[in-house]
Amino acid sequence: MSNLGEHILVVEDDTQIRNFICYSLHSEGYQYLTANTGQGAMNSLVSEQIDLMLLDLGLPDFDGIEVIKKVREWSEMPIIIVSARDQDKEKAAALDLGADDYLTKPFSATELLARIRVALRHLYKQGGNKQQTSIQVGNLKIELDKRLVFLNDTEIHTTPMEYSLLTLLFKNAGKVLTTGYIIKEIWGVGYGKDTQALRALMAGLRRKIEKSPAKPRYIMTEIGVGYRLVDE
Ligand code: CA
Repeated sequence: MSNLGEHILVVEDDTQIRNFICYSLHSEGYQYLTANTGQGAMNSLVSEQIDLMLLDLGLPDFDGIEVIKKVREWSEMPIIIVSARDQDKEKAAALDLGADDYLTKPFSATELLARIRVALRHLYKQGGNKQQTSIQVGNLKIELDKRLVFLNDTEIHTTPMEYSLLTLLFKNAGKVLTTGYIIKEIWGVGYGKDTQALRALMAGLRRKIEKSPAKPRYIMTEIGVGYRLVDE
């Protein structure tokens, strides 16, 4: 397993967690820099070549959310949030501001490295996706030019709303999409927080594509935050 020696900025004020992350990155051959404050992160971001940032939301000087806002003014680099278990609102806000993914403490090295791989893959895929006519995850496939969905090579009939939802998830495979973001993309900004409608739409879609909707294989529920289409 090798990588391109990407430079990862680790922003975390907890020494133990920071060391654990750095050790995991080092074992995979990633280069890394560390910061333990928001200001330290900003200093590295403006002076160094950074490919991806791991960002703790609870920093001693300012909120990680503020770091995301500032970075997104000039950079599309993948940002993976590291947050505590009870920070669902903050996670959703960070994702809506442009963070790519999140890890909930405590997390394993395997989980950390998997999320980094997905985020970097998305980064390298950007721009190369324009002529794509079909997308596939496992045995589920969408033919974008014909607006058709196939499961195990059998066509699945979806409503236009279900098709929009599935396409949105596919185009962001591996990424968590917040409930608010999905509603805005599917229904438009005026719909605010009508999570009931989304839940109903999701249930209908799952019945069509999941063998066992209660134990989904493709669309995972990220409790308190949103949904994620698996990416492999
Ligand atoms: Ca912290």
